[in-house]
Amino acid sequence: MADVLLRVNHLKKYFDTPGGTLHAVDDISFDLKRGETLGVVGESGCGKSTLGRTILRLYEPTEGDVYFEGQEITSLSNKSMKALRRDMQIIFQDPFASLNPRMTVSEMIAESLLIQKIFTRKQGPQLRARVSELMDLVGLSPKLINSYPHELDGGRRQRIGIARVLALDPKFVVCDEPVSALDVSIQAQILNLMQDLQDEFGLTYLFITHDLSVVKHLSNDIIVMYLGQMVEKAPAKELFSHPMHPYTKALLSAIPVPDPDYAVDRVLLKGELTSPIDPLPGCRFAKRCPFATEACTKADIPLREITPGHFAACILV
Ligand code: ADP
Repeated sequence: MADVLLRVNHLKKYFDTPGGTLHAVDDISFDLKRGETLGVVGESGCGKSTLGRTILRLYEPTEGDVYFEGQEITSLSNKSMKALRRDMQIIFQDPFASLNPRMTVSEMIAESLLIQKIFTRKQGPQLRARVSELMDLVGLSPKLINSYPHELDGGRRQRIGIARVLALDPKFVVCDEPVSALDVSIQAQILNLMQDLQDEFGLTYLFITHDLSVVKHLSNDIIVMYLGQMVEKAPAKELFSHPMHPYTKALLSAIPVPDPDYAVDRVLLKGELTSPIDPLPGCRFAKRCPFATEACTKADIPLREITPGHFAACILV
């Protein structure tokens, strides 16, 4: 696995709930190459965040393995995992929630460097120089050095969140809806910044979003999730030009800007995503799928390679 940075192998994360066993992530496998971006898309509640968190071992997996740089990490002790934390980071949707309202921009970025013991408080001048450098890298004006989070807009707050992660010099970053709370114009700026940082530092991203248009230009490959399962996986361009699974077609139909090249067959989604508690065998999308037949609910539908590199889990494809 020469340039595979992350290998996810039959990963499952189930939660015990009063209503039964909730299959949040149900048998997901993929390889992610160093320096590339894998987009993970699907409606809210389909398991995207749980997938990201289970890969990082913020949640313990129920089954399956994760290999990071060839090393199996699901069985590592917490202590060994701690050593890997700097390499494997996460950027959240709402950095405001994770930013201390009483800290200034420079203190928040410095905190990240101090917690991971990259600098000590005694190294004041070097620490300040590195904070300035990180602010510059994420496009935060030096004038904001003493500003507090509530004085900044969402885009600038997300830039602080990115600087705090970048401070650790990670290799792999789970980006969990990092632009979903931002205005569209600011979204583009943050996406451009993330792309630039990826190019400069060779970062590898798992980019989670419910909005397919966000990952269109950023991703190498995209996986589409439905109720914990992967229903389609393809290179980004291919997924947009030749969507195969009716669910992917429905997601593409929902993108507001019409583009004659994309979403060939318009499929409208009916109803809501149901809960993945004790799911029945068969295609989990069948209830909402306009093309479903009896055969769709008889047995689980495996993911098949339909054309080279393009996988779909649908018997009608
Ligand atoms: P997404 O990121 O796609 O919105 P999530 O991964 O947050 O989806 O959630 C997937 C499913 O797992 C949902 O049904 C959610 O309610 C459930 N879930 C997530 N976290 C927990 C938890 N800690 N305990 C129980 N259920 C959870």
